[in-house]
Amino acid sequence: MSQLEMVNDNIRRASAILELGERVEKLLLTPDREVKVEVAVELDNGEVATYTGYRIQHNDARGPMKGGLRYHPTVDAEDVTALSSLMTWKTAVVNLPFGGAKGGINCDPLTLSSRELERITRKFVSKIKEIIGPTVDIPAPDVNTNAQVMAWVMDEYSRFYGFSPAVVTGKPLDLHGSFGREEATGRGVAFIIADLMADLGRTLNGARVIIQGFGNVGSFTALFLHQAGAKIVAVSDVYGGLYRPDGLPVPALFDYARTHQGIRGFAEVETIAGDDLFTLPCDIFIPAALGGVLTAERATALRAEVVVEAANAPTTPEGDEILQRRGIVVVPDILANAGGVTVSYFEWAQNVQQFRWDGERVNRELQAIMAKAYRDVSQLAKSRQVSRRTAAYILALGRVAKATVMRGI
Ligand code: NAD
Repeated sequence: MSQLEMVNDNIRRASAILELGERVEKLLLTPDREVKVEVAVELDNGEVATYTGYRIQHNDARGPMKGGLRYHPTVDAEDVTALSSLMTWKTAVVNLPFGGAKGGINCDPLTLSSRELERITRKFVSKIKEIIGPTVDIPAPDVNTNAQVMAWVMDEYSRFYGFSPAVVTGKPLDLHGSFGREEATGRGVAFIIADLMADLGRTLNGARVIIQGFGNVGSFTALFLHQAGAKIVAVSDVYGGLYRPDGLPVPALFDYARTHQGIRGFAEVETIAGDDLFTLPCDIFIPAALGGVLTAERATALRAEVVVEAANAPTTPEGDEILQRRGIVVVPDILANAGGVTVSYFEWAQNVQQFRWDGERVNRELQAIMAKAYRDVSQLAKSRQVSRRTAAYILALGRVAKATVMRGI
């Protein structure tokens, strides 16, 4: 089953429970606009390379569309559509005044220079500039894109429409970014885990955690959980994994990964194959890399009590079913990783008002929003006797469906 079928499956399940009917369900399943562009650029060696770029806008019933921009060789229309739909439900779960969109380019940044990435980004923006904008669709960072890429997006868009910081979020602090945006997704994941552990009558102190992916989301999640007393026993990235049963030296590893573009070569601990991560014992397993990694086979082998989806769509439906059957608690992506888009909303609001919040305010308001969303989803899961994933979709679909119907078909 593809990621898109996975997301649509969840939509249909929640729609049936809410008795939304075929007409509304059809609207919620169908993306609003799908744009595909050719991104042709000159490489540093003079050759011309062409990539395919996508911006898929899923739903704007509740406000301007919002969603990341992913650079990865596997990016294709179907996955971007799935990710754009997830953004609609995510912004609704945390009740932000946004809809959902997603973008991507099928390039491999690991093989490209910074100048090449800049040219790719500018060419892409010049081709989609008519369909993005501060009140229309606001991109943000995702896999392999960062604050520098967002700065190029802002600059290129501003060349056509005048200075427009609110067209994109996740910008550098010195260029109208927000305090706390870079670490927001990881911080939000850590808030959710603290609430979940309290709910389960457990403590984070000493809890064993495994994290797949040590980029923006994985590394900050590791840092915040480590600060809260958890033991990060294993992590991995695209190059392989690291394992230490009594806990990895997270601050040193965090700094190392920043300066070495990954965890490869970190000398102080045992190295393992990336796949070994799925069979090591832990309390909390956190996928924080790409989608579709928790397959039926891995879900069967997993030795965790809790899965918190920091990545988007990391669990296949078959994997999900097995986790449920095994009594493993799953916190779904549209709740667990919503901290990033929440602080993106704060950044956008600050840009629109030309006013800056301090970091303390950002983190306080983020915690309040994540805590409310966690409570809403957990209560709904209990009262409807459904999984947290289905509860999150029920909450989100209810909100989006109401807005859609009120605005008129
Ligand atoms: P990133 O590019 O900063 O990091 C991705 C990490 O995944 C890297 O460490 C990379 O090496 C690793 N990785 C890639 N392939 C892997 C593999 N096969 N095995 C193990 N590790 C692998 O990206 P990110 O922004 O941290 O995004 C990670 C996930 O979180 C994605 O699913 C993304 O959609 C989701 N997400 C990101 C944000 C955000 O604010 N950046 C917000 C919400 C959700």
